[in-house]
Amino acid sequence: MGDRSIGNPGWKLEATYASLPGDFFQELPPQTVREPELLLLNEGLAQDLGLDAAWLRSGEGLAVLAGNALPADSRPLAQAYCGHQFGHFTMLGDGRAILIGEQRDAQGSLWDLQYKGSGRTPYSRGGDGRAALKPMLREFLISEAMHGLGIPTTRSLAVVATGEEVLRQTGPEPGAVMLRVASSHLRVGTFQYAAAKGNAALSQALLGYAIARHYPACAAAKNPAEAFLEAVIQAQAGLIARWMLVGFIHGVMNTDNMTISGESIDYGPCAFMDAYYPQTVFSSIDHHGRYAYGNQPSIAQWNLARLAETLLPLLSEDEQKALALANASLRSFGDAYRAAWLAGMRGKLGLANAHGDDQALCDDFLEILLQQGRDFTNSFRDLSLWLQAGSCPEAALAPWFARWQERIASEGGRLEQVRARMARHNPRLIPRNHRVEEALEQAEAGNWQAWDHLLAHLRQPYGEAEVPPGLAEPVPEHLAAVYQTFCGT
Ligand code: AMP
Ligand code: MG
Repeated sequence: MGDRSIGNPGWKLEATYASLPGDFFQELPPQTVREPELLLLNEGLAQDLGLDAAWLRSGEGLAVLAGNALPADSRPLAQAYCGHQFGHFTMLGDGRAILIGEQRDAQGSLWDLQYKGSGRTPYSRGGDGRAALKPMLREFLISEAMHGLGIPTTRSLAVVATGEEVLRQTGPEPGAVMLRVASSHLRVGTFQYAAAKGNAALSQALLGYAIARHYPACAAAKNPAEAFLEAVIQAQAGLIARWMLVGFIHGVMNTDNMTISGESIDYGPCAFMDAYYPQTVFSSIDHHGRYAYGNQPSIAQWNLARLAETLLPLLSEDEQKALALANASLRSFGDAYRAAWLAGMRGKLGLANAHGDDQALCDDFLEILLQQGRDFTNSFRDLSLWLQAGSCPEAALAPWFARWQERIASEGGRLEQVRARMARHNPRLIPRNHRVEEALEQAEAGNWQAWDHLLAHLRQPYGEAEVPPGLAEPVPEHLAAVYQTFCGT
């Protein structure tokens, strides 16, 4: 299949991952599906990838999006990896995913194209290798929202209904295949896999590949493994700060769900927080709150320590020296995270310059939100409105508001500039859980109205324009109390 009949679809596929030692993957094609129907095509993303959206909508294109056919240069494979799942080390691998290959875009960047829900692989363990429609729609929606928010993320090119049913705990559900796009699917768990094999040549090969793909400058460093570790730590510190600044809770920050690139990946049980409450957990399987909102920075650092362990033999031949280097790098996470977070909070509060008291100003604001049970996202938008009005109508916030006003005045900027800065940093809306559920339920039943409405606004979360009623309000209390998310496996 490939470049036949309808012009050139735009494939520029490479198979760089397949050039790694064979331990890292199993080559196999996706399983075919009975009755593919294209439900979603991400046209903007197709264009960015240099793929012809009209071709993707054709019969041939649909066959590829469904996994019933492959582009000519594809070398389909399932990737091997390990992971600490809720702290427990496990051998994993793509149990329901197949990498098609890497597409080179017009800028020369490489993008993994990967089916999700494309059938069993040698890594499937007890799973059926399939995906239900609703979780794939959820991943499409949330990853587009994250992208709209300016947060590095994998994305979804398409969702295809398979015409087959998958059996889940609650009974049979319609099945789907999603095509995921990532700057790569290298995970902390990929490095754990190489280390678990006990063959230093594998770790070395993986390191070389990861550096070439994501951090090419590290190749010229005196100690490339150390430079690489620091680069991943910086990328993840920046990413987690971005999550925290919009109230995003990943929900399953296992080491296999943490990328080397610094993109967010695997939108199973994730959700956005309404009221500011650091212990917020939505995932039905996170019984002890390991992945609660407020724990995310320390969990990221824990995961990065697992990455550092896998790199020890590459950091130095001298074990003590390797440990010292790893520990020094890991310590940089805290500073990098706090700096990224504080810079983001300054933006949210409309501040242009750093000042020594800013941490306390931010902490005190969050403390009031916590005490008052106030909505995280909307509280920042309220501040902007009150700033315009010149007064704060909420008694509990008034003393803090006066302090903040003073701090703003000390910078001497025009009020419109301050408010414009706030509008660039504070989303008008986030994917509110009840709106996401409503859109998913209706879309699953074939009604795309709520979906289209929500998705269009989630793609433009910043700016000062009004949000249509219903999209920006927090989840009503009676629904919030019972809201749970599921892994969708
Ligand atoms: P996740 O929690 O989605 O990150 O998945 C953890 C592991 O379970 C990964 O190795 C997945 O490939 C695998 N997995 C998830 N769902 C399925 C499924 N339906 N069939 C086979 N493997 C699965
Ligand atoms: Mg995963």
